Amino acid sequence: MSANQKKRGENMLSVIIPAYNEEKMIQTTADTVDRILSEASVPYEIVFVNDGSKDGTWQQIETAAKKNPHVNGLHFSRNFGKEGAVFAGIAQAEGDCIAVMDCDLQHPPETLIKMYRLWEDGYQVIEGVKASRGRESFIHKMFAKTFYSIISDATGIDMSRASDFKLMDRQAAEEFLKLPERNVFFRALSSWVGFKTTYVEFDVQEREAGESKWSFKSLVRYAVNNITSFSAAPMQIVTFFGVVFFVFAVLLGIQSLYMYFSGHAVAGFTTVILLLLLVGSILMFSLGVIGYYIAKIYDEVKMRPRYIISEVIKSKE
Ligand code: UDP
Ligand code: MG
Repeated sequence: MSANQKKRGENMLSVIIPAYNEEKMIQTTADTVDRILSEASVPYEIVFVNDGSKDGTWQQIETAAKKNPHVNGLHFSRNFGKEGAVFAGIAQAEGDCIAVMDCDLQHPPETLIKMYRLWEDGYQVIEGVKASRGRESFIHKMFAKTFYSIISDATGIDMSRASDFKLMDRQAAEEFLKLPERNVFFRALSSWVGFKTTYVEFDVQEREAGESKWSFKSLVRYAVNNITSFSAAPMQIVTFFGVVFFVFAVLLGIQSLYMYFSGHAVAGFTTVILLLLLVGSILMFSLGVIGYYIAKIYDEVKMRPRYIISEVIKSKE
């Protein structure tokens, strides 16, 4: 480990903080991160990415940047989603290592120091894993559990405690930025890129102010989106249905023919109706699944940018 051990105090850490309608949090977050990193004498910059907020988030970022020269800001032309914001921040970051954390201090900034020290010891990807999931409703927990078990299957990595709180070495970040797909799932892709990885546990904190951006609908969309971008399993379900129905068809066919030739074919109107309904709905369902993947291909081939930046605050240090 000592071969690539770095000298403490020289290597800059970029902290990427995506922010959407977080006006109440910007100053607190900037101050807290500043205090903690300065105390540990970690050279740093903060990159706030304002993801098309509808409140005064950008003004707050401007204020924070005037107060503290380590604060930089990116302003999106509209809301592009957290993954886009994370990507933009990483592309903008100038540090030797790059951390991503939430604006609401649910990811404890003290953990950044732990991650940074591990990076100094030569680790290239340091994943924050949730020691506990914080306060969530029962339904939310249930859905999260199902979602993560599917996604863990698809990626082959245990995702149940994964989070977006991570620190990456510059080399890993560059590889990450090279990924061509439009639909990025940061949580899983950071482990997909590989490199020397380790894990740091943290306790999810209560959100200090503002509210969570996730409605039930957006969570379902997030889940479906990420499952389909990481796995073709839903398409295989279609094939599976096909096989099951084929077997069923052969058996029923043999039975019907037998009945017919033995002279007591029943007037099976109910059977016909039931079969029609069943086959019809399975067909529609399958078409829907295939359609969903085609829509994803359509989205990807359009090659639109992941985000559009309309303003930049860059400190001139
Ligand atoms: N966020 C973002 N764009 C969005 C939604 C959220 O940049 O469209 C940011 C948000 O400001 C916060 C982080 O992503 O810094 C996590 O969001 P939130 O706290 O709402 O999610 P939760 O912690 O409830 O999962
Ligand atoms: Mg949060």
